[in-house]
Amino acid sequence: MSYDYDYIIIGSGFGGSVSALRLTEKGYRVLVVEKGGRWEPEDFPETNWNLRKWFWLPVLRFRGIFKMTIMRHVGILSGVGVGGGSLMYANTLPRPRETFFKSGSWSGLADWKTEMEPHYAEAERMLGATENPGLYDSDEALRAVAAKMGKSALYEPTRVSVFFGEPEQEVADPYFNGEGPRRSGCNYCGACMTGCRYNAKNTLDKNYLYLAEKGGAEVLAEKKVVRIRPIDADKGPGGEAGESGYRIQMKDSFGLIKRKRELTANGIILAGGVLGTVRLLLNMKRRYLSDLSNQLGSQIRTNNESLVTVHSRKKEKDFSKGVAIGSIFPPDEDSHLEPVRYGSGSGFWKLLGVPMTHGKTVIGRILKLIWSFIRRPFTWLRFYFSKDFAKESVILLFMQHLDSTLSLKRGLLNLRSALSTGPSPSAYIPLAKKMVDATCEEVDGAPFVSVSEAILGTPLTAHILGGCVIGKDASSGVIDSDHRVFGYLNLYVCDGSAISANPGVNPALTITAMSELAMSKIPYKK
Ligand SMILES: Cc1cc2nc3c(=O)[nH]c(=O)nc-3n(C[C@H](O)[C@H](O)[C@H](O)COP(=O)(O)OP(=O)(O)OC[C@H]3O[C@@H](n4cnc5c(N)ncnc54)[C@H](O)[C@@H]3O)c2cc1C
Ligand code: SF4
Repeated sequence: MSYDYDYIIIGSGFGGSVSALRLTEKGYRVLVVEKGGRWEPEDFPETNWNLRKWFWLPVLRFRGIFKMTIMRHVGILSGVGVGGGSLMYANTLPRPRETFFKSGSWSGLADWKTEMEPHYAEAERMLGATENPGLYDSDEALRAVAAKMGKSALYEPTRVSVFFGEPEQEVADPYFNGEGPRRSGCNYCGACMTGCRYNAKNTLDKNYLYLAEKGGAEVLAEKKVVRIRPIDADKGPGGEAGESGYRIQMKDSFGLIKRKRELTANGIILAGGVLGTVRLLLNMKRRYLSDLSNQLGSQIRTNNESLVTVHSRKKEKDFSKGVAIGSIFPPDEDSHLEPVRYGSGSGFWKLLGVPMTHGKTVIGRILKLIWSFIRRPFTWLRFYFSKDFAKESVILLFMQHLDSTLSLKRGLLNLRSALSTGPSPSAYIPLAKKMVDATCEEVDGAPFVSVSEAILGTPLTAHILGGCVIGKDASSGVIDSDHRVFGYLNLYVCDGSAISANPGVNPALTITAMSELAMSKIPYKK
């Protein structure tokens, strides 16, 4: 049978880009389909006030790199575009602790720590992970908090995927023996999460995807895959469908009339991130891929994050200077704390912020907010009328190992969340509150959270994971240890939805390493 491609990869984030390069190197004809656009450094917005360039909302023709999806139990932040989440992530690449390899649905199926070690090393090499050499005001604030707790030794600079050459000086590719693109040195402008305008951030289009395209892979941008079905409904001798390959349908991401197109491939790699992959597969399970495991959409985890903005009164400080996340501190064995920054001028988040409030009911929290305004009107006004919100604010990202899970289900128009095992992700974590108080004291600041968190108690997460987890069989997972979808031949999941336990730290390095491991199991083309 002749196919348009050997493999079609849906999504160009961490999992998709690793898959594109490794399959191309193995001799396969590869197509990557990405619903977002392609970006050159100068195209990124200067600040996040430029919503058309920063935000992803196709109905309003906002073509940006950042997407926000609010559900009942969690608000999910994610990335869109050629390079996926790497375009707007904060470049931080920590490795998870031991617990990650020994918990969740994949535990016991392999000695994951040992098996993944070389793939972590390769992922770090490819992403150019290196210690952040520039610590600035918000990093110093975290260092002081660590010292006050008597734990200075645990504070450290982050490892980040950024090129630290001479600031803004262009040089030949420093990473891949000249095979990669020319790069420029970081100037610590802090704008990594609105897209690096200086060609210093090691986004996927500058490493994995760049080399894949150079090797012959094709990338189709601004096309969304809406359907996957086996070409032939018959099952093979092993009882698996998809033996004759797959037909995908995609449509334009923009335009009044969205053109549709179909293509065939012998194999499919789902790499649309949790929201993209789980949504597409849940839609397909109803009709074309009905043998998918009933675990699909379950075992969704966050890093149990708490995101709090501390707005400082110290005018002499500039918390916007540095890379987006410059340092990390574990206040206890289950938790990590990182100070996050936006570049000078980016102040969109203040529109969605209100003072941090905790309480058991919505009414109780609203009353507390009203009381807080009566008691401290100037704290509110100073926040909303801040001259340069990014310069005056330290955003604290607190993450924990706790293992509670949610489910994602098909809703009326989009996915919806449902409670599953353990407590729902909570906006209130006592240790996080303690760290916030310590930081407020250090920088003479006041804490603010998103309005959805303050009123509805719904926390935001930038680290949504799971939904297509690894299991022993289809009763415990959606994919096997090699990321093959149970019940289907040549159908793989390689993205955050395959993460099968809570890493407790930023997950992009782990998604990259797991995808490396999965791709290492696919043989070279005969
Ligand atoms: C503000 C922010 C900061 C972050 N900072 C960090 C950090 O410092 N370190 C870290 O480790 N992690 C960070 N993360 C998390 C990290 O970005 C994600 O975990 C990671 O990008 C997920 O990788 P992935 O391979 O699952 O998919 P993604 O990177 O999300 O890529 C999926 C891609 O698929 C595309 N897609 C989806 N559905 C379709 C479809 N049907 N058809 C075509 N294309 C489709 C999407 O547009 C997207 O480009 C951050 C996240 C946010 C929101
Ligand atoms: S700090 Fe600025 S120059 Fe450095 S990687 Fe981030 S956006 Fe690019």
